Amino acid sequence: MNWPTWLPIRKDLQTLTPYGAPQVLADATLNTNENPYSPSPKLIQAISDAVFNVASTLNRYPDRDATALRVGLADYINGQNSTIFSMENIWVANGSNEIIQSLFLAFGDKGALGFTPSYSMHPLIAKVSRTQWVEGSRNDDYSLNVDTAVNQILEHKPSLTFITTPNNPTGGAVKVTDIEKLADAVKIVGGLLVVDEAYAEFSSERSAATLVKSNPHVVVIRTMSKAFAFAGARVGYLISDACIVDAMLLVRLPYHLSALTQAAACVALDFKDELLGYVDTLISARQKLVQELHELGLTCIESSANFILFTGFKSPAPKLWRELLDKGVLIRDVGLEGYLRVTIGNEAENKLFITALRDLV
Ligand SMILES: *Cc1c(COP(=O)(O)O)cnc(C)c1O
Repeated sequence: MNWPTWLPIRKDLQTLTPYGAPQVLADATLNTNENPYSPSPKLIQAISDAVFNVASTLNRYPDRDATALRVGLADYINGQNSTIFSMENIWVANGSNEIIQSLFLAFGDKGALGFTPSYSMHPLIAKVSRTQWVEGSRNDDYSLNVDTAVNQILEHKPSLTFITTPNNPTGGAVKVTDIEKLADAVKIVGGLLVVDEAYAEFSSERSAATLVKSNPHVVVIRTMSKAFAFAGARVGYLISDACIVDAMLLVRLPYHLSALTQAAACVALDFKDELLGYVDTLISARQKLVQELHELGLTCIESSANFILFTGFKSPAPKLWRELLDKGVLIRDVGLEGYLRVTIGNEAENKLFITALRDLV
């Protein structure tokens, strides 16, 4: 970006490019790991009723502490993991990206470490919040090497260490016993281990939320954008020791989460069985798609999420990406040479994808 010379933009921002997954119309939108199933008529009605009720109070600021929603999220997490969290252990914001930003603002002093390739927003939000980012490494097959990761933690002594499980864009999950080893290393260097579990509901691995009570330096990030099929509402949250939530209160903007968002998200939690009902469908569809990609001679990294990173095609990734888009199929070029990522869509979208791909590889 060529900024005008008169613009006093911060020096460290001048070379950055904004997050920009293409938002273009396509017959099959399989590029941002959204849930393809839209809300049912019953849920739409319930959200409308809740928003109707809140509308009469919109002259007032919302509940700054999002009490009802945090209580609901604690119940949801406790129900899934047999934990005993209360609202003091939950913070909620406009998407987990805002949670990540707050973590950098509160704890970024001694830098942050992540293991690449992983979620591209972790380093970007780090840079924007002036947190030094250290790029750690993975195995050649993109799995996390726990021993190497531990050594990198001990070497760099970051105040924040990020792991994503299941990892985006590769899809593999980290065993909770391995997360414990990382947590031990993080404890030695006096930092926090941030476990981004954006895709946890798709994985059979135990949640790191079960570690929080005995490891207060473990912070788990969740979102309603993926399995919960609620990306448009922008709701992300963290599960942690209460003192970490107290630090979030310092850096959050006043009344950050709108009354409309809070009301809609509470309804979504009431409909959790319906919203999460598609998780099994998506997992089966993922297994079918992996099989079909194999039949096309392609290789997939094993995924515990709602997307697949695949390789083995002959054209360069940007070229194949473009050719698929010309056929109405939007997937994701995550910037890994020779790889593309496809989100699991509904049956019709997956079929479109495979049909289009068959003509191109
Ligand atoms: C999609 C995603 C998020 C979600 O962000 P929201 O702001 O909650 O929509 C967070 N982390 C990872 C790894 C993701 O893939």
